[in-house]
Amino acid sequence: QAKDAGKNCYYIYDVEKDHQRFERFSLGADLRKGIQNNELVLHYQPQIDAVTEKIVGVEALVRWQHPTAGLLSPDRFIPLAEELDLIIPLGEWVLKEACQQMQAWIRQGVPDMKVAVNLAGQQIAHERLISSVEEALEASGLSADHLELEVTENFVIRQPEVTVGKLTYLRERGITLAMDDFGTGYSSLSYLKKLPIDRLKIDRSFVKDIGIDRDDESIIKATLAMCQSLGLVVVAEGVETPDQLSFMRDNGCQIIQGYYYSKPLSADQLMDFLVSTGQLQAEV
Ligand code: C2E
Ligand code: MG
Ligand code: MG
Ligand code: MG
Repeated sequence: QAKDAGKNCYYIYDVEKDHQRFERFSLGADLRKGIQNNELVLHYQPQIDAVTEKIVGVEALVRWQHPTAGLLSPDRFIPLAEELDLIIPLGEWVLKEACQQMQAWIRQGVPDMKVAVNLAGQQIAHERLISSVEEALEASGLSADHLELEVTENFVIRQPEVTVGKLTYLRERGITLAMDDFGTGYSSLSYLKKLPIDRLKIDRSFVKDIGIDRDDESIIKATLAMCQSLGLVVVAEGVETPDQLSFMRDNGCQIIQGYYYSKPLSADQLMDFLVSTGQLQAEV
């Protein structure tokens, strides 16, 4: 009896595992094709000046229009792309597309703003990082001061010297550098001093507990004070409520990103957002 049950459990477990393996395998094969077949799309989430409430940038966030599974979020396929060595072509596509779109918007007369692109750790470590960025700028005609690159804390620790060298080059080139998901990684505060960054994005996990958790509020306040004395601009991620907005603004956070102002939008929806908020003349 016990043996049967054990066997049975093993069998169920195995099928489940097999299924997962199959899903990953087939999604992986699809992803390779999907990148070539132009199934990736970028959505853009507005970044708003906390004081003027005008747009100052957008973060480009990739989605995958899968032929049968629908629109997939990056959490479903970015880790897969990293495992399958597809993150380099994927990342290069994102860079090119984001720069091209931003340049097209500038021609349409949008307010002065930047497009922020997320870089995976492997992209930063890769020898082609600098040339991919240069190619994306050159192909689109976008000037470097309209491009922002987001890096996370975790990868930086692996190869500090090489990383610092590359990031320094990009920053001297006029590109804005932001530390993403600040507070969730393993970095020490000394990295903030060593890394050539302009901005720091406070992770949503801190912002969501404003008004609920005094400790999170203290951490945010301390981070804002520290950034002020280091001359770093702070972006709050995941601001959803008026209370979160006023807390961040009143404590000196300059830029707000989150559902309070807008979810990530398709390129067309972003134009509608700018028109409806009076920041762009409607096309005639
Ligand atoms: P991230 O860079 O930290 O991006 C912010 C994420 O928070 C986005 O999720 C965004 O939709 C979500 N978000 C923004 N405001 C709010 C809010 O008010 N409430 C809530 N609940 N969520 C909010 P998304 O688009 O699903 O992206 C998830 C992650 O996938 C990103 O986190 C980033 O790490 C990664 N990712 C997205 N696009 C790319 C890409 O092109 N390349 C790479 N390497 N990673 C990417
Ligand atoms: Mg980001
Ligand atoms: Mg983030
Ligand atoms: Mg995040």
